[in-house]
Parts: sequence; C-alpha cells; structure tokens
Amino acid sequence: MPDPREFIRAKRDGGHHPAGDLRAFIGAYLRREIPDYQVSAWLMAAYLNGLDEAETEALTLALLHSGRTFDWSGLGRPSADKHSTGGVGDKVSLILAPLVAACGVLVPMVSGRGLGHTGGTLDKLESIPGFRTTLAPETMRDQLDRIGVVMVGQGPDLAPADGLIYALRDVTSTVERDYFIVPSIVSKKVAEGAGAVVYDVKCGGGAFMKTRAAASGLARRLISVTRSLGRRAAARVTDMSQPLGEAVGNALEVEESIAVLRGAGPADVRDLTLELAALMLSLAGAAPPAESLDRARRALESGAAWERFVALVRAQGGDAASVEQAGGLPRAPVVRPVTAPRAGVLEQVDTFGLGELVVAIGGGRRAKEDKVDPRTGLVVRRRIGAAVSAGDLLAEIHLAADDPQAVERARRCFRIGDGPVFVPELVIERAE
Ligand code: URA
Repeated sequence: MPDPREFIRAKRDGGHHPAGDLRAFIGAYLRREIPDYQVSAWLMAAYLNGLDEAETEALTLALLHSGRTFDWSGLGRPSADKHSTGGVGDKVSLILAPLVAACGVLVPMVSGRGLGHTGGTLDKLESIPGFRTTLAPETMRDQLDRIGVVMVGQGPDLAPADGLIYALRDVTSTVERDYFIVPSIVSKKVAEGAGAVVYDVKCGGGAFMKTRAAASGLARRLISVTRSLGRRAAARVTDMSQPLGEAVGNALEVEESIAVLRGAGPADVRDLTLELAALMLSLAGAAPPAESLDRARRALESGAAWERFVALVRAQGGDAASVEQAGGLPRAPVVRPVTAPRAGVLEQVDTFGLGELVVAIGGGRRAKEDKVDPRTGLVVRRRIGAAVSAGDLLAEIHLAADDPQAVERARRCFRIGDGPVFVPELVIERAE
C-alpha cells in the first residue's frame, strides 16, 4: 500500500488514482491498516475534486471484490432486486421484496442503514423486535430456497468495504456524489447475486440528486455499470420533492408498510411499489411486460405479499406478533401536532429539512457510534397542493421527550402560500 498521506494528497491536489492504488487503499482500509480519519480525509478530497469514469469503475470493482459474489442460479428460479438511491419516507423495499418473492422471483436483498438525511431499510427492519439483519451465507441460501426472500446488511461477506465506507460517508457529509453512489450501490447488488436489478433514482429536494438532469444521469450510469458487470438493469426516476407516503422514521415506516401490505396505506407508496414490482418481474423474465403489473397487483391484493412478509419476519428472528397486532412496534412516548400558521395552499415541503430533523430527534446517526431510536419520526398529514386553514394539522412529530424546538423546526419545513402549485408526477422518467 502506498503511503496513505500521499494517496490523500494526490486527490486533494486534483490528481488521478491508478486502479491499483485505489484497490490497495480500499484493501488496506478493509484490513484496518488505515484508520477512519484518513479514509474520511480522502472521501472529502474526492467529494470536492471528483472521480472520473475509470476511477469510479475501479472503486466499484474494489468494493465488489472486497467480499464474495453470490450465485443463486442453483436454486432454479429467476432472481431480482431493487435499490433506491435514498429518500425520505421511502419504505418501498419492505413491501416490494416479499411481494416479488410471492410472485415466484427470488429476492436476495442487501440494504443499507440511514445515509445522510435519508432513512435505511436495515434500521427500519431492526425496529421489529428480534429481527436479525445479518445472516450467514448458508442461512441466506436456505431461506431464499424456502421463502424466496432475504433482507440483510452486507456483513463481512458481501461488499464489506462498502459497509465501512458507507458508515463514514453517512457522518462526514460525503454522500451526494454519483461517483460514490454508483460504486456503493452496484457493488452490493452485483455481489448479492441478483440476476436483474431495478434502480429507483430519487429526484428532488429530499433526494441526493436535486434535479431531473442529475437524477437521469445517475440512472443511466447505474444501468450501464450494472450491465457491464453482467446483470440486467433498468431504472425509474421518481419524485422526492415531498416524503413518500406519510410516515418518516423507522418504526413508523414499518407500520405504514404493514398497512400497505394489508391493503390500506397511502396511494403513492402502493403505486410506486407496484410499478417497481412489475419492472422487477418483467426484467427477471418472470412475467411478460404487459402482464407484470396485474401479477404484482394480485399478489398484493390477495394477501400473498403480506403472508410472505410475516414469513420473512419469522425467518429472520423477528417477533411476528409485533407486526401482526396493532401497537406491537415501538412507539414514542410524546406525540405533538405540527399545525399550519396561516390559511392557504401547501406550496412546498422542505423534505431534506424533515429528513435532517428525524436524524436530530434520534431516528438517524450524527456520529458512527450513535444508536438509532426506532420510535421517533414524523407522520406528514398534508401533501403539496392541499388547501389548509390556520391551525390545521400538517404533521405529527413523534419524540422520545417533549421538544418544542423540534416542533417549530418541523413547522418551518412546510411553506404555505397562495399557489399556484406544481405537483410533480410520482414517476418522472423510465430508463430501460
Ligand atoms: N444507497 C447506497 O447503498 N449507497 C449510496 O451511496 C446511496 C444510496
């Protein structure tokens, strides 16, 4: 390994890393021969000065080869997965994975924790008492064969270097760059062994990509790098100008996912889940494109997706009663209303601000060692374009202890004006 100081200096001064140097740096970090602070310094240098295409590819391969690559072809069924680039209230994976498994496609889903202001599937799942997000490879295979779905973190086997770097990026404000996002996501998705990968690229104030052009570029890059590594890929660019659904925060999002799985819940969560499920089914070759949406809808409406979710919770050690019975998940002791200061139309939601607020009240991490409080979060009661009167409920904030400043901070995230209002489509672009 070259001297880490020289490696950092090279990027700080705008230089280019040869693939071998990048590989050696990542390898040394994985062996813990380089401390977090030097990797953090390099991340900030690269955040500011960029990685070109060759460096991005080299980083993807270095992360991918930091662990094993799984192959489920012996199980005799097609496999597929979905990955979101990160949003606020984005709980789609919790519904989608069991739903697609219920349609006969294996879903070996490897997810992340909260990243920056966005929530993470693993933190959400861990709000189910007992749920284990680390499984041994043999257990993964056995569970996939039995119930068709696993939902895990990367652990020591699967792109472990991404796991380490992801945790650093989360707390060093080095998230929003496509040359970090592409290697992070693609390495996990290729290593987990899914034959087809669908990307949900979030776009808007609550996403890492704020503009359609940036999100569209990221979608194309994710597709091309994934295909170059031998997997089928497609993407949807979807709206993140306001939270997806109503719930933001770990246990609250699990609760909302359960509602959707049981035939209720917000329409946007349900519609986006079905859109992505249909794409996974057709990309995996499990249903013709013209029939895939109906197939996904039937799995949701028949209760098959819900049954698969309960089977998943049981298989991974979770307390099934906590998801089957109302009130079974952890609940915050204090719930305060966030009300409209004036009459008008809800013109804009500061979705990034809401995500940051949830981190601040314990739903995410400000330092790597922080423990997440699964109970905290928000339930957003109005969508952009809604007419409100002064004092109307905009949201409820769920707190570990009373916190009037947090309530005020939440109120400032909703802009009430006189309109008119532009409401983006849920699906902004389809990239295949
Ligand atoms: N999801 C990931 O796994 N990595 C990123 O960098 C962003 C979203």
